[in-house]
Amino acid sequence: MSAKENPPIYVTRPLLPPLEAFLPYLEQIWEGKWLTNNGPFHQQFEQALCDHLGVGNVSLFANGTLALVTALQAMRITGEVITTPYSFVATAHSLLWNGIKPVFVDIDPRTLNLDPDKIEAAITPQTTAILPVHCYGHPCDVARIQEIADNYRLKVIYDAAHAFGVRCNGESVLRHGDLSVLSFHATKVFNTFEGGAIVSPDAKTKRHVDHLKNFGFVDEVTVVASGINGKMSEINAAFGVLQLKGIDAALQQRQAIDGWYREGLKDVAGIDCLGDAGEDVKNYAYFPILVRQAYPLSRDALFRKLRDNGIVARRYFYPLISDFPMYRGLPSAARANLPVASSASEAVICLPIYPGLTFEQVDRIVGLIRN
Ligand SMILES: *Cc1c(COP(=O)(O)O)cnc(C)c1O
Repeated sequence: MSAKENPPIYVTRPLLPPLEAFLPYLEQIWEGKWLTNNGPFHQQFEQALCDHLGVGNVSLFANGTLALVTALQAMRITGEVITTPYSFVATAHSLLWNGIKPVFVDIDPRTLNLDPDKIEAAITPQTTAILPVHCYGHPCDVARIQEIADNYRLKVIYDAAHAFGVRCNGESVLRHGDLSVLSFHATKVFNTFEGGAIVSPDAKTKRHVDHLKNFGFVDEVTVVASGINGKMSEINAAFGVLQLKGIDAALQQRQAIDGWYREGLKDVAGIDCLGDAGEDVKNYAYFPILVRQAYPLSRDALFRKLRDNGIVARRYFYPLISDFPMYRGLPSAARANLPVASSASEAVICLPIYPGLTFEQVDRIVGLIRN
């Protein structure tokens, strides 16, 4: 098999509408000459996202990380924040950018989300908030987390970068917590090249967030905070409006791929496919498998075997955030404090999943894992 016949299969490929479909949007921007700062596409995209997601207040951002940093500022979070080590590094980096100390708490072995049973023991007089992640788009135990937050008067900010379109208990998962943060990065289920958003519970909070992402400007002459420039441009917003039209079809394709993997891998000893976390609408953002002792190869040996065969899978999330140099000195970063996250991180491989991946390609990947 030559490389030409079998080009590499990446863990994800971006969703892209036909180029011709985007040209009229560009013409409209060129015509209007409104390039950024809450332009017509920005307004249209915010409204379209509210309708699509079933939420009331969306503030667009240039990327998810700026949205996370701003969400913490909007809630005036200081001191210590409880978070998960099993995530993309931006989750904890947003705390450091605000001078906040991350306190890592272990995850639930079933969902790989922050374990509510471990949160209380990590709370100190300095704790002001919890920053959980809906990992792989599987909702956290939002009810238990809110109960703990209420008891200790803590804020809850969800890193919902993986959770676009996910619903639980009959509503958007983004309606939970004090704020939720989305990412529209090219690698995510729904992308605007780069982009992100904060979902606020009410219009007043959204206004405050909107000031913070625009240097703190309230009007031409009034600046109320040392805000950042987090604004999304008209090009990205226009692209988002167009992308939304294709998202349902894309999710259907992801659902089919998810089903093919589950069927193909269901009886392979030592390979566990991660189940859902009880959500009623899933987004099939990732397809993580956990390579256990019973499998004949180690996780890394299987990972290399896939790579050698042109399957560019990824070890999300390895290393743990708590193992990176700026975090590993923290007492909560100790391996002994994070046994479940450590073992998941050593066992996980995310397999390719994206619209356009064919049954034959999935079958080839399954075959490599089975043999
Ligand atoms: C992608 C991601 C982010 C960062 O989003 P960007 O838009 O790339 O800045 C934050 N948290 C998690 C969990 C992510 O996966």
